[in-house]
Parts: sequence; structure tokens; C-alpha cells
Amino acid sequence: MPANILVVEDEPAIQELIAANLQHGGHHVLRASDVEEATRLVRETLPDLVLLDWMLPGTPGIQFARRLRADERTRQLPIIMLTARGEEQDKVSGLDAGADDYLTKPFSPRELMARINAVLRRRAPQMTDEAIEVGGLRLDPATHRVFTDGKPADLGPTEFRLLHFFMTHAERVHSRTQLLDQVWGDHVFVEERTVDVHIRRLRSALEASGHDRLIQTVRGAGYRFSALSE
Ligand code: CA
Repeated sequence: MPANILVVEDEPAIQELIAANLQHGGHHVLRASDVEEATRLVRETLPDLVLLDWMLPGTPGIQFARRLRADERTRQLPIIMLTARGEEQDKVSGLDAGADDYLTKPFSPRELMARINAVLRRRAPQMTDEAIEVGGLRLDPATHRVFTDGKPADLGPTEFRLLHFFMTHAERVHSRTQLLDQVWGDHVFVEERTVDVHIRRLRSALEASGHDRLIQTVRGAGYRFSALSE
């Protein structure tokens, strides 16, 4: 599944090289040359991952990483720091600031893609293509199909993404705002009640097999996918 990846890098040649590799790997790329531009982009659209250069004109990358971690909306956003400096202390500071991983320049496109996939798998499992099964409900991202007790279920694209997110983040309560950010990808233009509409559709698609009960309403908080009874 393609991810939206924000590349924050001030050197045009490196930015171009990274962007070309990510696009070749099937991802969508957003680009910024400094923290101010990156902040604007993140405000508009929450990316799935940030590749963040350490040495940037103006605000350093590490400070941006700390800001992302301090904000509830971006707290979970996976961050990979890029740096020309390979010292142990820098690596420790980067990880302390909340980075998920750390790449020292120059790196090969292969290493870049491997690190990105590893971080996405760990932090955003809904971005990977691995099939997932819970209590007879099976979702296969590669074929975009859902089965309830072996029978195909008919889900719209939004319901599919919603269910994928739920199944990869089970047992946790998600607010409508979090679901909009994670599933719709852009919290600005969609109203919160849209979430309720798609939850209703999703439940109705899973009703025949009784799997609708896996999607629970948590009063005053949002929704939760759970294999345990309420
Ligand atoms: Ca730089």
C-alpha cells in the first residue's frame, strides 16, 4: 500500500534522489526544504512517515522531531532522521528526540527503502501488505478483499481502509479525529460525523456473520476494534 512520505531536506540533489527512489518504490512524496515549510505541509495533510534531515537552514531537524512528538496529532508519526554525521552521541540525541530510526549519509537507495519499510511495519502496520485475521474476519491488503468465515464481504474503499486500520490497531480506543487523520489522511475537509456514517456502513457489511460486534462504540471517546466482548 503506498504511503505518503514527507521528505525534509535542504540539499536539492539529495531531496531529488530520495524523492525519485520513494516514487519508484510506489510511495507518494511531499517535499520541504526547511522546518517552516514542513510544518505547513503537516498541518494540511498528516503524512504516514517523515524523512527528516538533521542539518537544515533555520530550525534544526531535531527540533522539528521534538515538536512533532509534543503535539497529540503528530505524536505517532514515524520519523527517520537523516544526517551526515555518524557519531554515536548524535544517534542517541536523535532517538531521544523521538526519531524511530536514523540513517547516516551517504546511504544506498536499498538501505533507505529497507529502513522505511521496517519503520512502517512497526509504526503503521496498515501501510504494509500483510494479511490479517481476527476471529474469522480476514483482510488481505494485497488483493483488497475481506472474508467473513471464508465468505467474501463487500466493502467500499473507505470501509476497507477503516477496517484495515482497526485490525492493525486493535484493542485501542480511537477518537473520530484520530480516525480521520489516520484513515482519511486529511482531517481538515471532512466532518467528524462522516466517521459515524462509514462505521455504520462497515458494521452493516459485517452484520451477516456477526463480525459487526468487533467494532465497538466507546461512549464519549470514539471507537474500538476488539475481539473481546464489551
Ligand atoms: Ca542538510
